[in-house]
Amino acid sequence: VAEMGTPERSVVTTCAYCGVGCSFKAELNGDELVRMVPWKHGKANRGHSCVKGRFAYGYASHPDRILNPMIRDSIEEPWREVSWEEALDFAADRMRGIQERHGRKSVGVITSSRCTNEETYLVQKLTRAVFGNNNTDTCARVCHSPTGYGLGQTFGTSAGTQDFDSVEKMDVAVVIGANPTDGHPVFASRMKRRLREGAKLIVIDPRRIDLFEGPHVKAAHHLPLRPGTNVAVVTALAHVIVTEGLYDEAFIRERCDWDEFQAYAEFVSDRRHAPESTALLTGVNAQDLRAAARLYATGGNGAIYYGLGVTEHSQGSTTVMGLANLAMLTGNIGREGVGVNPLRGQNNVQGSCDMGSFPHELPGYRHVKGAEVREIFETAWGVEIDPEPGLRIPNMLDAAVDGSFKGLYCQGEDILQSDPDTKHVAAGLAAMDCVIVHDLFLNETANYAHVFLPGSSFLEKNGTFTNAERRINRVRKVMEPRNGYEDWEVTQLLANAMGGGWSYTHPREIMAEIAATTPSFAGVTYELLEEVGSVQWPCNEEHPVGTPLMHVDGFMRGKGRFLFTEYVATDEKTGPRFPLLLTTGRILSQYNVGAQTRRTANSIWHDEDVLEIHPHDAENRGVTDGDWVKLASRSGETALRARITERMSPGVVYTTFHHPGTQANVVTTDFSDWATNCPEYKVTAVQVSPSNGP
Ligand code: SF4
Repeated sequence: VAEMGTPERSVVTTCAYCGVGCSFKAELNGDELVRMVPWKHGKANRGHSCVKGRFAYGYASHPDRILNPMIRDSIEEPWREVSWEEALDFAADRMRGIQERHGRKSVGVITSSRCTNEETYLVQKLTRAVFGNNNTDTCARVCHSPTGYGLGQTFGTSAGTQDFDSVEKMDVAVVIGANPTDGHPVFASRMKRRLREGAKLIVIDPRRIDLFEGPHVKAAHHLPLRPGTNVAVVTALAHVIVTEGLYDEAFIRERCDWDEFQAYAEFVSDRRHAPESTALLTGVNAQDLRAAARLYATGGNGAIYYGLGVTEHSQGSTTVMGLANLAMLTGNIGREGVGVNPLRGQNNVQGSCDMGSFPHELPGYRHVKGAEVREIFETAWGVEIDPEPGLRIPNMLDAAVDGSFKGLYCQGEDILQSDPDTKHVAAGLAAMDCVIVHDLFLNETANYAHVFLPGSSFLEKNGTFTNAERRINRVRKVMEPRNGYEDWEVTQLLANAMGGGWSYTHPREIMAEIAATTPSFAGVTYELLEEVGSVQWPCNEEHPVGTPLMHVDGFMRGKGRFLFTEYVATDEKTGPRFPLLLTTGRILSQYNVGAQTRRTANSIWHDEDVLEIHPHDAENRGVTDGDWVKLASRSGETALRARITERMSPGVVYTTFHHPGTQANVVTTDFSDWATNCPEYKVTAVQVSPSNGP
């Protein structure tokens, strides 16, 4: 650092990796970015950062960046570099031609939760106002869509209920299906500090995650459930709270529908939901479960933190509802230190959902069927909006295989590597007549693309991200886009090539349109963000500088709603051929498909995906630590090295999907959440056997 000297200038911006949303000072000498320093005034990180964020700038200048547009007539041909104008005309002609031949619903978009709010807003507008349908979906489909549905149904909106600061008032943390140390490192540090101060921890996870037994932190209870049984465990916790009379009657009478509660109480009191009845199914000791329920209900401020280990299941939405039930039962909602807190994986999962990128919702979580809502946007955009919900990502791929979906604009997503059942994704992409990939790098999906539009990195654009605590943070341009355009400009150029007639000159104008059409953003302006740093939505006349805590005086939907959470076994079954259960996740130094982190200085620490396996399971198969193994499922197979560890429960194996060489999603299934189609990444029946390598 000393060698770098005093930087000539700095720009404060927001990390583009995880949902913590850390603020950084990007320091430059001339045009060269020399380091990223965590910004002490950042309200989400207060001067801290993790290793991923510090090194993030590396990928922006990586030689793999594609800086010029490319096209090709078919995916068998080599790419041809062309001008922006030619690429956009080519893309627009193809998309228009497809719609003429196959109808206006034969094309759609997939956007990324890495994109800014403004970019996401424009992409869904492109779909609705230019393509003329609602075939817009986001990668939140494959991570937190059950959060949207589950919290929407119970509380009335899809959002984390507390701010990060609230963790300092937490007495009992329930961490379920999340590994904050790896996934949300800066928030994990704040949680650990509170735990060291004496707060208690309950971990519900098939793995012994670091939090379970880290330095100076030991979980009071670990419930190592069998993958796929979240609903049974959560309902058993509710059973204990209700049958032992540990619920907060005053809160429920005041804030929830009492008749609904009584029906729910009768449901969970049934003996089939008792911990003793579910122990065999879930693998969780009944005494441990009872003790955990008592601690959560009586230990003071109880806060639930959850991640994709909750949502990425066939009953992901049901588990989210079950967690909301627990918070309402115990009155742990609407004040500091409590709540239901989804830990969002990507930087802007919250924002991409807020901005209407789901095929059934306009910005602000309003259903497209609502004529009065459509009218707001029809007036603003000067078009008619289709009242029928569009296709979700898996439906787009199914329709492509069936021949009715022919054109896709895929912005900032590598669905071939990230989405489940890789063979099916490839078949869908291969069946399309026009795949437009808009990205920084030639990713795996680009193998099936006809148009490649170079993307801009987070350092090269203006906009906003909304983090896991609903905090809208500014993203500021640190350097000019190496590809020539910010991503929102590329979407505008594509829209205009198809007759959109858009004329935005800066993302602040897009935010002004968002504010004018979306009540929870009504008070958000770039001027306000400059003045106060960041705000948490709702931000409007009633809450002019935002809302740190949700549901303080009442739930967004009025009365909180208890919903029945009946356990239904997944269709994915173990058996003699596939006796183990695979669950997937992430590691600290990598981010999702690794397209960015693999191109930064930190990637040297973990240069391959490995398979974690319990010593008994390894020994039974003649596998020793570091051996190559074959990982096979009904969907496919891959090879990777084994890491033998007691972090895993017997019968459960674990890997990550950061490296395209592994293609971990070759083995995952196409089963998904009943309500949202969020894939069931966390439960795949597999076999592991010795292998000679790939
Ligand atoms: Fe912060 Fe997450 Fe970025 Fe790490 S990856 S610096 S925790 S926002």
